[in-house]
Amino acid sequence: MTLALSRRSPQTLHRIIKDAARAVKIARKEDPTALQKISDSSDGDPFRVLISTVLSHRTKDPTTAAASSRLFTAFPDALSLSTANVRTVARLIRPVGFYRKKAKTVKRLAKIILDEYQGVVPGEVEELLKLPSVGRKTANCVLVFGFRKPAIPVDTHVHRIFNRLGVVETKTPEETEMELVRVVDRRDWLDLNDVFVKFGQLVCRPIGPKCSACPLNDRCRYYREYYPKKIHAS
Ligand code: SF4
Repeated sequence: MTLALSRRSPQTLHRIIKDAARAVKIARKEDPTALQKISDSSDGDPFRVLISTVLSHRTKDPTTAAASSRLFTAFPDALSLSTANVRTVARLIRPVGFYRKKAKTVKRLAKIILDEYQGVVPGEVEELLKLPSVGRKTANCVLVFGFRKPAIPVDTHVHRIFNRLGVVETKTPEETEMELVRVVDRRDWLDLNDVFVKFGQLVCRPIGPKCSACPLNDRCRYYREYYPKKIHAS
């Protein structure tokens, strides 16, 4: 079951998102997330965003960005990737997590896009979810970074941070997405993932969040309820 802990207004959440964005900018100006980088470098090509998002599962951003760049240099589109040799693809994308399996998946995706969608990645979540290895997060990433359509991709960073903040109390990223879609103003949807993935890498890290320096600590449930105890215990 999903619960919004505190009924924070869209305006309050807008300020939270803006403050997180500012903190990320100060901490690391020139370092976009892998998906933003791929979206920028390919003019938001939905096919490349789709393939890169699949590569990004359980893989660090710099590894994803480098693997995507090698792959698209050799196979720039669905047509070329659909006929690629799987072993060559695996070699190009290594060391992303599960690279052998992903090599087969991305080739299969390219073939489906070519055969069933006339080479054009669909821009609707329902169609994207029919594709192999595409769950809600990937589908929403394609919408945001490929089509610039408002959606909220929820990965582990977004899920963890909004639970720590106390904006949601949810068990899964899917539940978090449903809650955030309900409470966050639509104008903030496009930026939310990029801001909070970076915020999660730099400030609200999975282990050792930098709470004392965090610009959101005055609005954070974790900081209020758990952080002082942690400090006293250490
Ligand atoms: S105060 Fe700590 S737990 Fe809360 S958002 Fe900031 S870094 Fe994360």
